[in-house]
Amino acid sequence: MAQADIALIGLAVMGQNLIMNMNDHGFVVCAYNRTVSKVHDFLQNEAKGSKVIGAESLEDMVSKLKKPRRVILLVKAGQAVDDFIDKLVPLLEAGDIIIDGGNSEYSDTTRRCGSLKEKGLLFVGSGVSGGEEGARKGPSLMPGGHKEAWPHIKDIFQSIAAKVGTGEPCCDWVGDDGAGHFVKMVHNGIEYGDMQLICEAYHLMKDVLGMDHDEMSQAFDSWNKTELDSFLIEITANILKYKDADGTHLLPKIRDSAGQKGTGKWTAISALDYGTPVTLIGEAVFARCLSSLKDERVEASCKLTGPTGVKFSGDKAAFLEDIRKALYASKIISYAQGFMLLRQVAKEFGWTLNYGGIALMWRGGCIIRSVFLGEIKEAFDRNAELQNLLLDSFFNKAVLACQESWRKTVSTGVQHGIPMPCFTTALSFYDGYRHEKLPANLIQAQRDYFGAHTYELLSNPGTHIHTNWTGSG
Ligand code: NAP
Repeated sequence: MAQADIALIGLAVMGQNLIMNMNDHGFVVCAYNRTVSKVHDFLQNEAKGSKVIGAESLEDMVSKLKKPRRVILLVKAGQAVDDFIDKLVPLLEAGDIIIDGGNSEYSDTTRRCGSLKEKGLLFVGSGVSGGEEGARKGPSLMPGGHKEAWPHIKDIFQSIAAKVGTGEPCCDWVGDDGAGHFVKMVHNGIEYGDMQLICEAYHLMKDVLGMDHDEMSQAFDSWNKTELDSFLIEITANILKYKDADGTHLLPKIRDSAGQKGTGKWTAISALDYGTPVTLIGEAVFARCLSSLKDERVEASCKLTGPTGVKFSGDKAAFLEDIRKALYASKIISYAQGFMLLRQVAKEFGWTLNYGGIALMWRGGCIIRSVFLGEIKEAFDRNAELQNLLLDSFFNKAVLACQESWRKTVSTGVQHGIPMPCFTTALSFYDGYRHEKLPANLIQAQRDYFGAHTYELLSNPGTHIHTNWTGSG
């Protein structure tokens, strides 16, 4: 008998938690997994006493669903998603909905939208952020694909999503095709940037100011009461003060070699593909790559020297505040760049994206959640067509107020030989973006010199001319 509101396939950590979240909100969920024994385990343990039901096969699962049938996939991204779609297609009817909640590449989602539309089925690719805890207590959800599916899933999605302010859900319709997964990818890229910026602040506190772990923890704790109020700043304060069983701080014992799963890299690749200068996320990805060359760096540290005899002699409290402001200004640049990429890609694919809505979706439930995202939402509320966050009055003033500290932080860090790829690229971007004239006139001249690529004169735009640079003028 059809009794379930929705089915979820994939009983790993994300799937189990999302099912229990849906159950808490009154929805009857049918659980299924490739390895069917996990369905039995789940029903007898985590889901015991709940309204969750299980299925022995995909046929069994489909027979238990109310129409239009709604099936969420939370399986390993890639082939597993295509395999399940292939198996579901013959079992479903026109108007039924398949939702992929995994970390799929947006181009795969666009492809799946196309092929399922031909078969009369609706497909949604939804970013799900917030990890295990988010899935259980309220994730940030970023659905996109076939919009006809939205009225049928909106209630479930907005009920289980994180809430902010006066109960606004961190979930709204993002756009066509792979837009939901694209927005999730950019979210992950921004997460890379935020984490690297915090690491650079930590490096400066530790190696320029010589702060100990408890002092650094207190600094992040107090920063969390400022414009930087965010999940990542909060956990950094906790990480810094955490002590091992032996009573010493754990953080300095952790191998300084960062891993990655690829979404930051995908964001940087998209930025290059669409010609958008998302420099900060790119640098954050490269910083992880450099960190992973641990053995090489150990060897290089014995052979390559940096500045010697440089000791910080200024006002420590004042410089700590400079670092905080540098972090805030750099973060503004990172988000400005992320939204530039969203704008460019929306233009490319003809997506209509609601930028304020995206900021709200990231405002709670996910790793980059912060008070700051509320300011971004307000900037797009003031002007939905805002070209760049930096041009909004709030962010313009905020950067201006941080500028002197930002420059001091970068120059002091450089003098001390501290690597700050994200602080420095953010400042370079800012200086580049605010320059009416850049030295690219020389690039154009060089290109014309060696390759006759032509150039335009400022006085005559649109007309391309070539000069014989080795002849007489
Ligand atoms: P996962 O480890 O990515 O995937 C495990 C699930 O995928 C299991 O149900 C497994 O079934 C199934 N699976 C794997 N290979 C399969 C195949 N070839 N055919 C059919 N099923 C296959 O699980 P997860 O960490 O819960 O993540 C689920 C999705 O959410 C992923 O796309 C992930 O990237 C995304 N995500 C994860 C997080 C997180 O914090 N973990 C956060 C956001 C998004 P068996 O039990 O039969 O092996």
